[in-house]
Amino acid sequence: MMTPSIALLEKYSKPGPRYTSYPTAPYFTEGFGEKEWREEIAQSQASGRDLSLYVHIPFCDTLCYYCGCNMVATRDYSKACNYLDFLLREIDLVAELTAKDRVVRQLHWGGGTPTYLKPTDIARLATHLRARFNFAPEVEAGCEVDPRDLTREHVAALRAAGFNRISIGVQDLDERVQRAVNRIQPEAMIRDAIAWMREDGFTSINVDLMVGLPNQSVERFAHTLVRVIEMAPDRLAVFGYAHVPWMKKHQKLIKEQDLPSFPVRLGLQMLVHDKLAEAGYVYIGMDHFAKPDDELVRAQRNQTLYRNFQGYTTHKHSDIYAFGASAISQTDDVYTQNWKRLADYQGRVDAGHLPIERGVRITRDDKIRRDAITRIMCDLALERKIFAQHWDIDFDAYFRAAVVTLGELEQDGLVRLSSARIEVTELGRFFLRNIAMCFDAYLEAAEPAKPRYSKTI
Ligand code: SF4
Repeated sequence: MMTPSIALLEKYSKPGPRYTSYPTAPYFTEGFGEKEWREEIAQSQASGRDLSLYVHIPFCDTLCYYCGCNMVATRDYSKACNYLDFLLREIDLVAELTAKDRVVRQLHWGGGTPTYLKPTDIARLATHLRARFNFAPEVEAGCEVDPRDLTREHVAALRAAGFNRISIGVQDLDERVQRAVNRIQPEAMIRDAIAWMREDGFTSINVDLMVGLPNQSVERFAHTLVRVIEMAPDRLAVFGYAHVPWMKKHQKLIKEQDLPSFPVRLGLQMLVHDKLAEAGYVYIGMDHFAKPDDELVRAQRNQTLYRNFQGYTTHKHSDIYAFGASAISQTDDVYTQNWKRLADYQGRVDAGHLPIERGVRITRDDKIRRDAITRIMCDLALERKIFAQHWDIDFDAYFRAAVVTLGELEQDGLVRLSSARIEVTELGRFFLRNIAMCFDAYLEAAEPAKPRYSKTI
């Protein structure tokens, strides 16, 4: 793989979104609330679109210092019991508004740590969902797990509840790194967890790793990679640590002097690409890798890959109904986000409301730009003519500013431009966010003094 120079990385390392939505979450507004979301749900029932359900369990036993999620660290399980009651009520409220023939093709539980829930509560929540929505027999059901405090019974409960995919948080096997981020999980614990998942017949196991963490070195992370590859996960997500202490105050617990330097971060990225390619994994885009027979790889080949709040997916034509504090729902025209603070979320549900804090109804321009960004992120290319025909636009006139910036990116070797297509080069794969940013009309209007996003590289 081609190595980008430090100068190039420095040039393009700037705050930028990960584009799990467009417009991105900072542009949702309080002007779009419960009333608007109820109307949207009502009018979208006739769409016949499939459903993808997301459930957010915000609790964790301890705090990982790098955490960027909406979570609450507590050992008081009564908080989770209480939350579960509100969650079930929220599910009821949305289920009442949903046409019975809409089919759930995808289910995802994230957090926090969904397996913070006891096995009996996992069963209770799953049974509740299945009783209220119309699940496809072959539903793709995934759950995020933390190997610490995960028991044999948790894994069995997930499988019994119909889950067939698991994503396990590993980050790094090196003890020095684990100590620096307050997440101690010996390798044997992870191996046991994966063995249980295999025994119980989970069809897809994803491992999350992270680069850019304190005390990481290229040499030591190479050991982690070798051992993780031995575990033979079906997919790997290797995220770059986003150090945003101005947004996530607890990240101040990470000593900045322990963070790897820019050249080391680059070395780590290169290592990941090289080692995973050597082991036969295919790069999907934006930190994601999968075995060559994985459906994400097939979807990328067929240009049917899509990107949403859960990352890459093959379920383009689904509406997402998301439950729990901070959860984000989506139809073709709307994004909404639930109240983030537990007290706000629970208070709204208690009063019989859909707990919407904010949202946005997207415009035709948003849809066109979202499609362009999605094609770059998913296909690593954009067919100009097909795109222009589909949206009935003159591509160059519509994207006048983007075309100029893309020309600069071409000079740096990140894209290849022709009259037919925009293609991400091998080098450009490191800079997907920067390439997508060319199509983002909101960035120009953003206040530069207030960084809203992590750095792109
Ligand atoms: S387990 Fe995940 S959600 Fe919980 S603190 Fe650690 S990183 Fe954050």
